[in-house]
Amino acid sequence: MDCIFCKIIAGEIPSKKIYEDEHVFAFHDINPIAPVHALVIPKKHIRNVLEIAPEDSETLLKIHQGIQHVARELGVDQSGFRVITNTGEHGQQTVFHLHYHVVGGRQLKWDM
Ligand code: 5GP
Repeated sequence: MDCIFCKIIAGEIPSKKIYEDEHVFAFHDINPIAPVHALVIPKKHIRNVLEIAPEDSETLLKIHQGIQHVARELGVDQSGFRVITNTGEHGQQTVFHLHYHVVGGRQLKWDM
């Protein structure tokens, strides 16, 4: 499958890893929009939120635990941060492997 995030998980494309477990991989975004900008992704290839299935429930919990880990590791758990998952054309999704942006390190506005 020609998926850039699957290749990052496999180590075929380098990334700055923050966290990894059986279900989840987290790494720094290559083009950060804020001082903290990480991506938390499932190891299973899921296109976006529309393809999450009942059997992915454990993965979803692990993703949220991964987000907690990333927030603490990058020091934004006290100051706060935003979690975003862009979906489809109007959501401006560019990589079609489910991912959660963790953005913080500065005061965010609703238009970022
Ligand atoms: P989307 O636009 O789909 O919500 O988010 C995709 C994100 O992946 C973007 O913020 C983009 O900067 C990031 N990205 C795309 N290719 C790479 C890559 O090869 N390495 C890393 N670390 N991030 C990437």
